[in-house]
Amino acid sequence: MYQSPISPGRSWYEDSIPDRPTYPSLDGDRSADVVIIGGGFTGLSAAVHLAKSGTDAVLIEAYRFGDGASGRNGGQMGTGQRAWAEEQEAELGLGRARALFDLAEEAKSHLLEFTTTNGIDIDYRAGQMSVAHKPRYVAEYKAHAEIMAERFGYPHLSFMDSAETAERLGSTHYYGGVLDTGTGHIHPLKLLVGTAKAAAAAGARLFEQTRSTGISSRNGKVVVETPNGTITADKGLIAVNAYGGDLEPVSAAHVMPIGSFIGATPPLPADTPVLPGGEAVDDSRFVVRYFRKSADNRLLFGGREIYGVKDPKDIHIHIRRQITEIYPALKDVELTHGWGGYVGITLPRRPFVREVLPNVISAGGYSGHGVMLSNFVGKLYAETVAGNRDRLKLFEELNVPAFPGGRRFRSPLLFLALSWYALRDRI
Ligand SMILES: Cc1cc2nc3c(=O)[nH]c(=O)nc-3n(C[C@H](O)[C@H](O)[C@H](O)COP(=O)(O)OP(=O)(O)OC[C@H]3O[C@@H](n4cnc5c(N)ncnc54)[C@H](O)[C@@H]3O)c2cc1C
Repeated sequence: MYQSPISPGRSWYEDSIPDRPTYPSLDGDRSADVVIIGGGFTGLSAAVHLAKSGTDAVLIEAYRFGDGASGRNGGQMGTGQRAWAEEQEAELGLGRARALFDLAEEAKSHLLEFTTTNGIDIDYRAGQMSVAHKPRYVAEYKAHAEIMAERFGYPHLSFMDSAETAERLGSTHYYGGVLDTGTGHIHPLKLLVGTAKAAAAAGARLFEQTRSTGISSRNGKVVVETPNGTITADKGLIAVNAYGGDLEPVSAAHVMPIGSFIGATPPLPADTPVLPGGEAVDDSRFVVRYFRKSADNRLLFGGREIYGVKDPKDIHIHIRRQITEIYPALKDVELTHGWGGYVGITLPRRPFVREVLPNVISAGGYSGHGVMLSNFVGKLYAETVAGNRDRLKLFEELNVPAFPGGRRFRSPLLFLALSWYALRDRI
């Protein structure tokens, strides 16, 4: 059984997918119109859209498609960008905030259309709740629902008081929140595998187990080195997000990997009080908890942690403790799976999209909001290659500063900052 070498544990997703084709590794030199590094949602979505528009694309992935964040995440699509629309408005003005929100709405409908057009079953289930773990956040959620309807034309968000929240969650742990009926949650690995198949069917040349050891721009060409061959192309897309290491310094300075972990329970009884409506949930903690039920009624429960967890047993312990705080009745339920991955975050929690070398665009840093955005950024990249950069520009123009401290010192600095926020979650 294949176990991703970059996850500290096997995911329930890997065990619930019927067919995960493998792709060859690169052996020999290639030339192409576009070279893509990274086989997650960003890279594979770009490959599909490029290939469908007749562009010759070569994509390489260091491990297997979906071994990065895309195959192992919480599956929550969300609405808008990671930062709330009103926060964007305060900084960017209503016009730009609205443009970013509308783009994210398009990302959402694009994802659902894309899966329908390409016959990909993603176990889509509607409904998402964001809930307050402290009474002081309840008023913010109420105001948020009103602002979204009035200023951003989004009618699907409704405020929930503590009684409704308790009923919908099957838990009295939270104080209120919002219900979003205009979004939902999915099986991410099914989407990822389906996207790879669609890319291959459209004619993209896909390679797994092929790590790029360097990318450069030389004499008007983009050159990507791998251990067994060089790819030369007119344009390049770096889609390595939190997993890029030292591949390219500008991306590395702006996108920071943060570990996040998920545990799966066995299927719960059909009449379980846990999430009777089947919505996904995220909470107001800075070190956010996110959970939902799978198509076969398991509770998939995620929590970000500020320290690295390498041993799957530790994931089980941490996640079970968090589940029990919210659902004490599940205290004796053993988890069947525990796994983890890296979320790519940026300082202002906005996507990082930038031309980092001549004709090379880097995209990532969706800050925990990439399920719909990364797929859409792949499409916008293909639009850019076809000559229309207007919409990708909306992301490129966002102010995303580098993390202070450089590659060496930013982790300790972030650790301190996260520790402070984690402490604040508790008081
Ligand atoms: C545990 C977890 C839970 C999450 N939950 C949610 C959620 O509920 N909702 C949400 O919206 N987002 C969530 N996210 C974030 C979301 O998964 C990501 O934003 C999204 O998958 C990013 O896709 P990507 O293609 O940009 O990156 P990835 O999927 O990480 O793909 C990058 C790929 O690049 C490859 N790579 C790296 N370096 C090289 C190299 N040198 N050569 C070749 N290949 C290379 C990696 O192996 C990897 O496969 C979560 C992430 C994690 C880890």
